[in-house]
Amino acid sequence: MSSRNDSSEIGTIATGNASGSTPYIGRFAPSPTGPLHFGSLLAAVASFLEARHRGGQWLLRVEDIDPPREQPGATDDILRVLENYGFEWDGPISYQSTSQDAHVDAIQSLKDAGKAYPCGCSRRDLAAVPRGPLGVIYPGTCRNGCVASDFALRVLTDDIPVGFDDQLQGSQVQRLESESGDFIILRRDGLIAYQLAVVVDDNLQGITHVLRGVDLMDSTPRQVWLQQLLGYSTPEYCHIPVAINERGQKLSKSHGAKGVAIDQAETNLVSALEMLGQRPPRDLRSAPLSEVWQWAQEHWDVNVLVGQTEISTETSPMAEAENGLS
Ligand SMILES: [Zn+2]
Repeated sequence: MSSRNDSSEIGTIATGNASGSTPYIGRFAPSPTGPLHFGSLLAAVASFLEARHRGGQWLLRVEDIDPPREQPGATDDILRVLENYGFEWDGPISYQSTSQDAHVDAIQSLKDAGKAYPCGCSRRDLAAVPRGPLGVIYPGTCRNGCVASDFALRVLTDDIPVGFDDQLQGSQVQRLESESGDFIILRRDGLIAYQLAVVVDDNLQGITHVLRGVDLMDSTPRQVWLQQLLGYSTPEYCHIPVAINERGQKLSKSHGAKGVAIDQAETNLVSALEMLGQRPPRDLRSAPLSEVWQWAQEHWDVNVLVGQTEISTETSPMAEAENGLS
């Protein structure tokens, strides 16, 4: 990501819908690829508290559109933890798999507008192509046609700057054509790509504010691009720092982060608050759950995290010991 430095090209920079009178509809959107680990708990706590702090709604959406990556029972496990930890979401839980018609419609409208095209390139075809921080920079090989019978769909990109002003991380800009190239919206295996699904679902649910881990920030310009092509409004974005273990790795399933213990809600929530830069009193760990949430709601301030991209689990030794983070 680079910072915006050319105000003459401001036309494609999403300004979001910041306004004191704008309603706040936030969300937490876990993928059922494993249990809820501490890194996801941080995003859940922060997005919930920020929504409440702004007098808004907090929706819960299960992003279950990638069956090969899903783990049996993970959805139930995640929901049980959230419930046990006292999270209160507004309205029914939504499941991304139920909005596939809307995903397909969005893809069709991009095709109809001449903004999407089939790509038959295999992994091997792209092996020698230059890579950037976002992965392979697709060189546009199939822009002028593709004879393969087995293909993915890509969306056309441009090289104008696309970006947004992040509440915590400031101005973020990418030139998609040179930084990612035309990216996939429908996978070769027929599954909807994450970037497309998340944009369609945020729009369907009227999400006005997206608060999530900074590890997802570099995909946000691609989402803003899709919002612009589809005529959607762009939500406000707030990317919070991600938790890293003592080896400097992001807490994630691939690095072996375990699920948070279902029966240690108070302790884990207080650890999460500490890691999120809040300063809960020491004795809050032994307080009832309702008091933990009451303190959190009264004192929540996300802006203490301005400019921060990593939170060491060492900030909270208890989190490390009790969640198998080390
Ligand atoms: Zn191709």
